Amino acid sequence: MNNKRAGIANELQSKKKRPGALIASSVLLIVGAGASGMLAAISARRTARSLGVADDRFRIVLLERNSRPGAKIAISGGGHCNITHDGPVDQLLEKGFLRKSEQRFVRHSVYRFTNGDLLALLGRYGVTTVTREDGRVFPASGRAGDVLDAFRRMVTDSSAEIITGTRVDGLDISSQGFTVRAGSSSFNADSVILAAGGASWGSAGTTGDGIRLAAAAGHRAAQTMPALAPIFFTVAPKTELVGVSLRGIELVVESGSDSDAKRGDVLISHRGVSGPACLSLSRSVAEFLASGRGAVRIMVDLFPGHDEAAISAFVLDHAARHGSQMVRTFLQRCPLAPGRLTADAEATAPASTIPNAFAVEIMRLAEIADGQVMSGLTREQRRALVSILKRMPLGNVRKVPLDKAEVSAGGVSLSEIDPKSMESRLHPRLYCCGEMLDYAGEVGGFNLQAAFSTGWTAGMHATLNLLEAKSPQTAQE
Ligand SMILES: Cc1cc2nc3c(=O)[nH]c(=O)nc-3n(C[C@H](O)[C@H](O)[C@H](O)COP(=O)(O)OP(=O)(O)OC[C@H]3O[C@@H](n4cnc5c(N)ncnc54)[C@H](O)[C@@H]3O)c2cc1C
Repeated sequence: MNNKRAGIANELQSKKKRPGALIASSVLLIVGAGASGMLAAISARRTARSLGVADDRFRIVLLERNSRPGAKIAISGGGHCNITHDGPVDQLLEKGFLRKSEQRFVRHSVYRFTNGDLLALLGRYGVTTVTREDGRVFPASGRAGDVLDAFRRMVTDSSAEIITGTRVDGLDISSQGFTVRAGSSSFNADSVILAAGGASWGSAGTTGDGIRLAAAAGHRAAQTMPALAPIFFTVAPKTELVGVSLRGIELVVESGSDSDAKRGDVLISHRGVSGPACLSLSRSVAEFLASGRGAVRIMVDLFPGHDEAAISAFVLDHAARHGSQMVRTFLQRCPLAPGRLTADAEATAPASTIPNAFAVEIMRLAEIADGQVMSGLTREQRRALVSILKRMPLGNVRKVPLDKAEVSAGGVSLSEIDPKSMESRLHPRLYCCGEMLDYAGEVGGFNLQAAFSTGWTAGMHATLNLLEAKSPQTAQE
């Protein structure tokens, strides 16, 4: 018996399923045909078939408010779809889910349906992938549409119906089962999986409906917050700085005694900042802003990993050797986020240097005149210069826009969902999966992987729960 077969057999035994017939003509309803909903449908059918259940005795229906399924898959990764992240599951979880409680929660399902399982599944539908140096995995064609098309074909092959243009707005739960309402229509079901996504990028159909449905059923839900979003400032950055990128720096947020920092690339935009380090930091920024404890300031550390004393020694040393060099020239040739801070740091062809527009701005903030030479720097000027290099203010935060956030944090409380099955701890046979749960992954394919894995787990367990197994030996191929 391979591992997957053994897994299903163990699940069945642990649930103490009696050998016997299935509940006659069971119906599984899935709300939302996005990443997690489609995977839930595919996994549900595979589980049922592996137990020898004929398709016509187990109906799987996806209700989708958009006219087409998978809108977010289609726009993911700028249309290229960063499907998942490479590497062993433990490393993927460490890298992708920085908050330990969220990491612990998604762990079970990512082990249940790994990045390797995902790529194998896509491979069977003709989607080959490439792994970039940083571990991010994309379809080799570079087209998100190919990934979406493969999932649609899998749903079709799973004999799952998709009813589009149907926005679910109510869920009634009784001892008889579930009634899902959508306007004037209603659908009865023996089991329901809520897979309606988060609350960000509402134009894709995700406006927090799933979270509201779960809350109406009694689930606690944490306030939704933007994550992986650009940051807007109260005062727009100077025109000269707009479009400038800073490579490998540390972006810092401070509000009162709270602070956080993320290392990576940052782009100065018309309204504030964006780029990988900004996306990663945005969740904390949004939380600080929502706490209402005062100004939320964004700064940049151009020399992460080096303290002010080391930077000061570097500047002094440089001034001793190149006294007649203009401070502005020193800054323009100064390595950005150098690994080593030695006198020859600039001679060893740094990956990138402080952009010209920033050099000018740094001098302005440190009150150093344009024609100033290195040997003429006073102690106060050097202190000011070092302090700006270490903590250059970029702006105060006005907003972290939810409608421009790739994911939302917050959502259905993890403590009320069983991480091994995605089943509600309040209502048997009700399941929640995907972004509507209170977790948020980093940039890098982690959010889609979590949606696929939690969806897969929910589909499998909803089916096991509904169907009475004939034999623990009969399992998924
Ligand atoms: C611009 C952008 C780029 C992204 N790029 C990446 C990336 O490259 N890699 C990555 O890992 N993640 C990426 N993400 C995040 C990723 O797309 C999501 O985390 C993931 O799709 C969540 O899956 P889900 O199934 O939980 O929700 P979704 O995929 O959002 O699916 C939810 C579905 O439910 C439907 N729905 C909502 N309410 C109702 C209702 N009331 N009734 C019926 N249907 C309903 C929605 O229309 C939607 O189809 C990106 C997100 C955005 C916005």
